[in-house]
Amino acid sequence: MNDMSGSSLARRASRLAMVAKVGVGGTAPIVIQSMTNTDTEDVFATAMQVAQLARAGSELVRITVNTREAAAAVPRIRDRLAQMNLDVPLIGDFHFNGHKLLAEHPACAEALAKLRINPGNVGKGARRDEQFAQLIEIACKYDKPIRIGVNWGSLDQALLARIMDENAKRPDPKNATEIMREAMVTSALESAAQAEDLGLAGDRIVLSCKVSGVQDLIAIYRELAIRCDYPLHLGLTEAGMGSKGIVASTAALGVLLQEGIGDTIRVSLTPEPNGDRTREVIVAQEILQTMGLRAFTPLVAACPGCGRTTSTVFQELAQDIQNYVRERMPDWRLTRVGVENMTLAVMGCVVNGPGESKHANIGISLPGTGEAPVAPVYVDGERVITLRGDNISAEFHRIVDDYVSRKYLERANH
Ligand code: SF4
Repeated sequence: MNDMSGSSLARRASRLAMVAKVGVGGTAPIVIQSMTNTDTEDVFATAMQVAQLARAGSELVRITVNTREAAAAVPRIRDRLAQMNLDVPLIGDFHFNGHKLLAEHPACAEALAKLRINPGNVGKGARRDEQFAQLIEIACKYDKPIRIGVNWGSLDQALLARIMDENAKRPDPKNATEIMREAMVTSALESAAQAEDLGLAGDRIVLSCKVSGVQDLIAIYRELAIRCDYPLHLGLTEAGMGSKGIVASTAALGVLLQEGIGDTIRVSLTPEPNGDRTREVIVAQEILQTMGLRAFTPLVAACPGCGRTTSTVFQELAQDIQNYVRERMPDWRLTRVGVENMTLAVMGCVVNGPGESKHANIGISLPGTGEAPVAPVYVDGERVITLRGDNISAEFHRIVDDYVSRKYLERANH
């Protein structure tokens, strides 16, 4: 599955042992996480969205904890999830008042699997260190890992001013971009060192430095990976909507993951109005799966179509197969070992259709314009049947079901 270079694998394997309870880092698989956009005070809505994200494949879900009511809601959200038989770990996202909320609501601290702290939003001046220490004390008391999550939109201004002063005294001062990147990395590393000085074990710390520029993200994480061994949470912040957000996230994460950098990822997509929040989970899965790093759902390869296909038949069949596989996957995942590695191909004509179909576990080559109205089906490279008529879709489903039950062993505990 993994095509990363040996040195990348070695770097990843050299990271500290996994952060307990959330399975991040070390040799653990790269973990997918997401974040709710409901009001955390609304227990029902938040629990339902956490459930949707978890069922879509999010292995950790972050929720904002911004008010006393939200902190009080966290254990109730945890209870609701338990009623739904969901044990997905919850991460609390704290800014400005996290030290107070966690001190006043111990049940909130207990219900969370991890705390996210933004070092730029912990407090100002002398209060910053005091409040940071309170947060670390709580993390130690409840044995919770933390993510030190730096964000360039809320960079620690005192630290930035210090780095700019130091830079001004250099004979060859760095430019503004380099200074911003240096400040992000320094903020994360100094906060982690401070947390360790305060008693938090190094294997309870995850770092992130989120920016919205692809080249900035790549440069910052390369530097982080050189300068520390903490597990790294990757994500482009404010990636944007639709294809822009997907492309930017994929470009940035793809480069870093290929270099063995990154232990957990989030794809921060802005949903369309009333859009589906689970899209970010699907995109994260597709990034990891298309890179060969993990497998989640059978992949459907489809040709783009061209002037040889004047009908939409193959587009409809490609979509139908993709939907069918997603519908069946929750059941297959529980009952069949390794089915997520299955590959399918739906092709539009004879030019590449038979060849591509032979490379997939199951492939179908539909007739292009002017070709005989038949659709040969290939299973493990062999032509097994030729479909024709109006019932191609249902017959192809049957072939897929039959293949799954023959090729993927039934799970022992099923
Ligand atoms: S397989 Fe055929 S229909 Fe599909 S893009 Fe290639 S030439 Fe066009």
